[in-house]
Amino acid sequence: MSSTIQDLARANVRALTPYQSARRLGGKGDVWLNANEYPLAVPFELSQQTLNRYPECQPKLVIERYTAYAGLTPEQVLVSRGADEGIELLMRAFCEPSRDAVLFCPPTYGMYSVSAETIGIEYRTVEVREDWQLNLPAIAEQLDGVKLVYVCSPNNPTGNLINPDDLRQLLEMTRGKALVVADEAYIEFCPQASLAGWLKDYPHLVILRTLSKAFALAGLRCGFTLASTEVIALLMKVIAPYPLSTPVADIADQALSEQGIALMRQHVAELVATREQLIADLRSLNCVEQVYESDTNYILARFTASSQVFKMLWDQGIILRDQNKQPGLAGCLRISIGTREECQRAVAALKSLPG
Ligand code: PMP
Repeated sequence: MSSTIQDLARANVRALTPYQSARRLGGKGDVWLNANEYPLAVPFELSQQTLNRYPECQPKLVIERYTAYAGLTPEQVLVSRGADEGIELLMRAFCEPSRDAVLFCPPTYGMYSVSAETIGIEYRTVEVREDWQLNLPAIAEQLDGVKLVYVCSPNNPTGNLINPDDLRQLLEMTRGKALVVADEAYIEFCPQASLAGWLKDYPHLVILRTLSKAFALAGLRCGFTLASTEVIALLMKVIAPYPLSTPVADIADQALSEQGIALMRQHVAELVATREQLIADLRSLNCVEQVYESDTNYILARFTASSQVFKMLWDQGIILRDQNKQPGLAGCLRISIGTREECQRAVAALKSLPG
């Protein structure tokens, strides 16, 4: 009996809705405020001419520099193809398909569910409370069979930090049962909130980081997993032999130099100032119901007619991210912080909307 290509594919892949990345969604914009990228390209030049050779699996200088930046030891740091690869490596190392589960708290980042579905791991969701904080009693009830709890802080798309006391309680209730994965993709915008200092107390804490946001290198595809030596050693078993190409490691080295880190901090300060101005400007507009505070490089706002607003800005080449379908976020759009001019263009377009 012959099978169609569809029949041959795994059932969970047939059923899968892939992650709707900003790039996949398309659009013909010239003001891109939908992917939480840094708005301007930072120039880098390649310093290596060794492309005939395979790269190191864990490029030594990248690890050394990130280790110094994060205040850890090299055995506590893994570098990968973006934080997205870290999300998936954890599932591959810790979750038995069709038996173990992962848990996360919507509204949150979309790749936790997509990676779980792709690998064939059950995922459980416990929605955050109305104040966008963890619902700890409900999480406690759902922990049976859960190996990984993903908590995004500051959270995408809501922009808020998760209360440290709640994170401690979560770490206590999962001790000896599951890993807690704190996704700190946006932590450079609120560095005082990092849990890196907690790793010594909690061997089951894992932290995800990236160069895609504050470091302005989304196109580089470079991220980090910070964890106990034991967790990192397990992840090293399942990672690809050459996860980073030589040019990626070369540029990551430069981004993590003293100068690179100083430049990143300067960019963060500029973006934070632009963000506060954008929040103030949006609050003065009729079409905006509510603008939420943010500890990140994006803000979430609730609009009176969000679908029309989204479409009208889209037609003018200003591309935002629609969050309407996320639980509790009806009417919400997410706006990445662009340059001052880009934000002003978005505000001007919103001001001129009819009604
Ligand atoms: N976590 C969160 C919360 C994110 O928003 C993103 C990027 N969209 C990632 C992880 C993935 O980052 P990377 O580009 O390093 O794969």
